[in-house]
Amino acid sequence: MILAGLMAANPGLFCCPLCASPMSLTECKSLICSNHHCFDLARDGYINLLSRPTGGKYGKELFASRKAIVNSGFFEPVDTYISGLIAGRKLAGNSSHRILDAGCGEGSHLAAIQELAAAGPHRSLLGVGLDISKEGILLAARNFNENTIWCVGDLAHSPFGSGQFHSILSILAPSSYAEFQRLLTPDGIIVKVIPGPGYLQELRELLYGRLSRQTNVDSEIRERFSETFEITEARRFQYKVSLEPPLLQQLVSMTPLSWAADQNKLQTVLQLNELEISVDLTVLVGRKQPS
Ligand SMILES: [Zn+2]
Repeated sequence: MILAGLMAANPGLFCCPLCASPMSLTECKSLICSNHHCFDLARDGYINLLSRPTGGKYGKELFASRKAIVNSGFFEPVDTYISGLIAGRKLAGNSSHRILDAGCGEGSHLAAIQELAAAGPHRSLLGVGLDISKEGILLAARNFNENTIWCVGDLAHSPFGSGQFHSILSILAPSSYAEFQRLLTPDGIIVKVIPGPGYLQELRELLYGRLSRQTNVDSEIRERFSETFEITEARRFQYKVSLEPPLLQQLVSMTPLSWAADQNKLQTVLQLNELEISVDLTVLVGRKQPS
């Protein structure tokens, strides 16, 4: 099993989500901590490290849509930029570069970024994808498994040892800055992608009659980020993508914007033959501050 091999090659990566003691791999089929808390590797090539099951609000359909949108190149400029940041990092020692995608969903961004970064001239990359949704992780593990460990787990009480990651990605996902600070190596970086005021504005206008998001939401996110991390780069990406069916429907099904929308307006959007959509995303790069 590829998963067991990756785990065996990275001792110290995991710590018990229940008691925080170190974990070791037994017979290539379970992770067990020194207090005998035991988590089995799933046959599909991931590990579930949630102490109790939680029903995520995101279903299979949402993740399949998100995968189709990421694979269509909708986020390509952003993923390419992030992969350049990863590939360009110089790390101390000979360790492989470990990247955590916190809130990875079905793993399409991490897979794309790993693939792009691996094309550069540098050491090996280990990707770790963490999400609370088993549906997302299952889809990730079925699609990509080389050099990536997929885990179901809770971001706020993550099942990893301290100082294990050189880079942490948080792409349009909730963050737990205290955990990120704990998980990063001393020279580690965090890459956070946040939506700008124009993000999906055409969809917002069609569904709610409003043009833009409140801009103060973005500055609040930025302010909170800078309380924990020193911002070293902030790059804004603004471009338009023209979507036709079935990608247009997949974008609608991927975004929380559609959840509270009026059904008639939603149907109108779903029946369009084409829609030009604005992408407006900011990538914040932060350095861990000395603790
Ligand atoms: Zn334990």
